[in-house]
Amino acid sequence: MQTLVADHPLVAHKLTVLRDASTDTPTFRRLTDELVTLLAYEATRYMRTEPVSVTTPVATAAGVRLASPNPLVVPVLRAGIGMLDGMTRLLPSADVGFVGLARDDETLIASTYAARLPEDLTGRDAFVLDPMLATGGTLETVVTMLVSRGAAAVTAICLLSAPEGVARLAAAYPGDEPVPVRVVTAGMDERLNEHGYIVPGLGDAGDRLFGEI
Ligand code: URA
Repeated sequence: MQTLVADHPLVAHKLTVLRDASTDTPTFRRLTDELVTLLAYEATRYMRTEPVSVTTPVATAAGVRLASPNPLVVPVLRAGIGMLDGMTRLLPSADVGFVGLARDDETLIASTYAARLPEDLTGRDAFVLDPMLATGGTLETVVTMLVSRGAAAVTAICLLSAPEGVARLAAAYPGDEPVPVRVVTAGMDERLNEHGYIVPGLGDAGDRLFGEI
């Protein structure tokens, strides 16, 4: 599994403001949106293209277009919804699937309560949006759903990651078989605390995006 921690001053700046406990919800939403677009630029680096030619006002130029079939973007409910616009802005042709997982506060085990995904993902690039890669249980479940449906590659975009979660996903998907699995993240933090929160982290991403409901 490949892990890319984005090394860019804009990413680092926006992530720092996101972490700040005094950042209000409207600002948190806007910064999440902006950060995802920046991370999406890296996450889409390996998308397949096919050659095309285009007629410019002057001559013919060789170019490329994204290869078929079109990609699938999967925000993980609920916090991943806050990342969707930032991703589809860069990939407007993508289809969007949804997976909902809830984490038990005691056991930290995630269980699936909703899934709306194409049955057959053969040959398609899939992008999972989940702001916090904490224990890795949620992401492993979602990646496995996509791989078992035939996705050609799965790339997760996470605002923040913990080493424990990355290690879990890497243990489940160590190489490029059955398909390449990648994580693109704005930051790799120190650890998880006893409640499964990333330290120093940014708190509960869903609450900060959508309020404590
Ligand atoms: N989910 C969150 O929203 N925050 C964490 O720190 C870990 C999981």
